[in-house]
Amino acid sequence: MNTQSHVLMGAAFFGRPLPRLAWAGAAGGILPDLPMYTIVAVLGLLGYSVSDIFDRLYWEPWWQIANAIGHNFLLWGALTIGSALVIVRRRAGQPPAPSPAPDSETAGAAALVFAFSASALLHSLIDFLTHRADAHMHLWPLSDWRFRSPVSYWDPDYYGNWFGLFEAALGVALIVVLFRRYRALPLRAGLLVVLGLYVAVPAFFYLTHHG
Ligand SMILES: [Zn+2]
Repeated sequence: MNTQSHVLMGAAFFGRPLPRLAWAGAAGGILPDLPMYTIVAVLGLLGYSVSDIFDRLYWEPWWQIANAIGHNFLLWGALTIGSALVIVRRRAGQPPAPSPAPDSETAGAAALVFAFSASALLHSLIDFLTHRADAHMHLWPLSDWRFRSPVSYWDPDYYGNWFGLFEAALGVALIVVLFRRYRALPLRAGLLVVLGLYVAVPAFFYLTHHG
């Protein structure tokens, strides 16, 4: 799935009730792909061509390991479970509150870690189900096993066109939900940028591969 969809899902699913949690969920949605973007940016600055980067260097073991760390079930699973346990234990230790807990409690460090790591884990799970030739090693370093999904989020030979349509519709729906939920101006401006990516990213790959 494209990074912006992971970002939107992270904010939508784990961002309640505060904008701060939405930013944590959004950041967790980006993080698994951050090694890739960093490597692409550095290689681009060094003068490598787009085809050199994605057709050759992407498949080098060092890059595959960087992807494996970003999309790691063990890492994100441990952080998600650990932070959830902290939240549950803290809630159990509190006397029943007559009103919803104040902001400072609902967005404590454990809540931020949970929104961030659960979003990264969801990103990894969705990639697990939608990557084929470019599957990640989600259980690295315990195993370098890759699941070759029958569905690819981009390859037209494996339902990529249909999935792309589904993803774009989901993305627009999530943007509407988040726009209505949060009034913070920076967050709303960010949503409009993400909306633009649904047009810009396919246009970029079309132009660089067919142009
Ligand atoms: Zn990813």
